[in-house]
Amino acid sequence: MTKKIIITIDGWSSCGKSTLAKQLAKSLGYVYIDSGAMYRAITLYFLRNHTDWSDSKEAIDALSKIHLHFEYNPKSLQSEIFLNDENVEYVIRDLVVAEKVSDVAAIAEVRTFAVAQQQKMGQRKGIVMDGRDIGTTVFPDAELKIFMTADIGVRVERRFREMAEKNPNVTMEDVKANLEMRDHIDSHREVSPLRQAEDAILLDNTFIGMQEQLDFALKLVAKAL
Ligand code: C5P
Repeated sequence: MTKKIIITIDGWSSCGKSTLAKQLAKSLGYVYIDSGAMYRAITLYFLRNHTDWSDSKEAIDALSKIHLHFEYNPKSLQSEIFLNDENVEYVIRDLVVAEKVSDVAAIAEVRTFAVAQQQKMGQRKGIVMDGRDIGTTVFPDAELKIFMTADIGVRVERRFREMAEKNPNVTMEDVKANLEMRDHIDSHREVSPLRQAEDAILLDNTFIGMQEQLDFALKLVAKAL
C-alpha cells in the first residue's frame, strides 16, 4: 500500500494556494479541502440570518444550525461546498462575503467549529488542505507544510482578473483594499493567527509559473514520502 501523507498549504490571501493545492491533489490522487470556503460559508450564513457575531451566545446558537459538507462536482472537476445542503461554492466568492469573513474567522467559537471538522477530514490522510492555520493549528504534525507568498501587486492582479469575470463593477482598488484588510486581520488575530509554521517550506511564486510551482511541490512530496 502506498503511504499517504497530509499536505498543508498556508499563506497570504490570493497567492495561489488553492491552485497549487488542487494541482497537487490531482497529481497524487488526494482529496483537496479549501478550508477558507468553510469560513466563507459560515460568514454567508451569519450575513443572511443577521447574526450579531460579536455576541458569542448568538454566534454559538447560529453555528449549531450550520451544516457544512463538500461534494465533488464532475462538471467543474472540483469539490464544492454546501451550506445546509445548498451549493454555495460560487456565492461565497462575492466581495460582500470577503468583506466580513476575516472578522468572522477571528471568533474563537467559529474556529473551534471549523477546525474540528477539518481535523476529521484528515483522519485517513491523503489530503491537501489550504488555509491560514492548517500547518500551525489544524495539522501541526503534517508530513509536508508549504507556506506561500507573492508580491502584493501580483496577488491583486490575479484576484482582480478572477473577480472581474463575475462582477464587472469590481475595481482593482476594491480588491487591493480587501486583500490588505484580510491579511492584516488574519495575521493579527488572537486565535491561530496566520504565520509560517517553523517547519514549513516557503514558496514565493511572484516570478514562477504554475508548472514550475507544481514541480517544486512534487519534489517536496517525494522527499516527504
Ligand atoms: O482562503 P480564502 O481567501 O478563501 O479564505 C477566506 C478567509 O477565511 C481568510 O481571509 C481568513 O480570514 C479565513 N481563513 C482562516 N483560516 C483558514 C482559512 C481561511 O481564518 N484556515
